[in-house]
Amino acid sequence: MEPCEDPNDPGNDPKYHTGKKCVEPGCNHPAGTAWSPYWCQKHNAERLNGIGASFEGMLAKFKKV
Ligand SMILES: [Zn+2]
Repeated sequence: MEPCEDPNDPGNDPKYHTGKKCVEPGCNHPAGTAWSPYWCQKHNAERLNGIGASFEGMLAKFKKV
C-alpha cells in the first residue's frame, strides 16, 4: 500500500484538511492531504495511482522504441 492510500499515514493527517470539500463532484469528504489541498484522501490516492499507472505505461512504450 502506498502512503497516500493509508488513511492513517501522517501525510493524510487531518491537519492538512483545508476546510473545503474534495473537488471530485459528489464527494463530501474533507479535502487536503500532504500531497494536494484539492482532494480527499481516497481521491488523492486514486489520482496518484492513475498518474503512476500512465507514467509506467509511458515508460513501457519508451522501452519498446
Ligand atoms: Zn473525494
